[in-house]
Amino acid sequence: MSAFDLSGRVALITGSSRGIGRSIAEGLVQAGAVVVLNGVNVDRLSAAHADLAAGFGADRVFFRAFDVTDAEAVAAGIDWIESTVGPLRILVNNAGVQHRVPLLDLDVADWQRVMDTNLTSAFLVGREVARHMIARGRGKIINVASVQADLARPTIAPYTVSKGGLRNLTRAMTAEWARHGLQVNAIAPGYIHTEMTQKLVDDEAFNDWILGRTPANRWGTPADLIGPALWLAGDASDFVNGQVIFIDGGMTVVV
Ligand code: NDP
Repeated sequence: MSAFDLSGRVALITGSSRGIGRSIAEGLVQAGAVVVLNGVNVDRLSAAHADLAAGFGADRVFFRAFDVTDAEAVAAGIDWIESTVGPLRILVNNAGVQHRVPLLDLDVADWQRVMDTNLTSAFLVGREVARHMIARGRGKIINVASVQADLARPTIAPYTVSKGGLRNLTRAMTAEWARHGLQVNAIAPGYIHTEMTQKLVDDEAFNDWILGRTPANRWGTPADLIGPALWLAGDASDFVNGQVIFIDGGMTVVV
């Protein structure tokens, strides 16, 4: 069996109704995994589910709507997956939101919403899933961070802080869970063309800045995240612990 073969392994990808999460889900199911899609918008989620199930079969693709910031809903969602779909082997903490406003105009409610969705969610979902994984002595957790943790940009303070926290949560989880057979790592995407960044893509000046700032001279696509996610989800990365892998076209290595 190839070190990249995920046959029969159950994977939950949070925030996978669209964008990066959906792309990673598609990559995992192509590699043999049984995937569980997640989001809050049920219509969008069931459309994504129908699409993937048509290609890979209804026994390989499931969905469960829950808000990753709601501890009770998270616990119920993980219980449902474990009892209905099977033992979780892979978790991708991908759900996230952006909120663009200068610090001086930022409401505490918006600060909190970004922290809850991007950071606290990974603790809540990670804790529930890790309880099962630790009992079985193995599992892979991939946290979707961002280059923004390194490149502080104006107007996205809570996002920058939440993604920095997520990278340190990756290390904290590793410190406690690696000895139980779990590998917890993060991927840090650069600028990826999704709904989250559509306004930036449409902004000619920003678009020029991105192309000039990125050695690869292009936006990333959600599909660019599949390879690194597959590596971190499978046996090929069994001795990789607590790392952050940058997938940014070289953005963070130049000034
Ligand atoms: P999108 O906005 O396209 O998709 C976000 C996904 O998260 C949707 O499926 C959405 O579900 C889900 N989501 C949002 N809030 C919640 C919640 N409370 N509970 C459950 N699901 C939720 O984002 P991207 O695909 O661009 O980004 C995915 C991840 O990658 C995020 O963590 C983002 O920060 C990170 N990232 C993105 C970059 C980019 O350039 N695009 C760069 C670096 C990191 P629903 O459809 O129900 O709203």
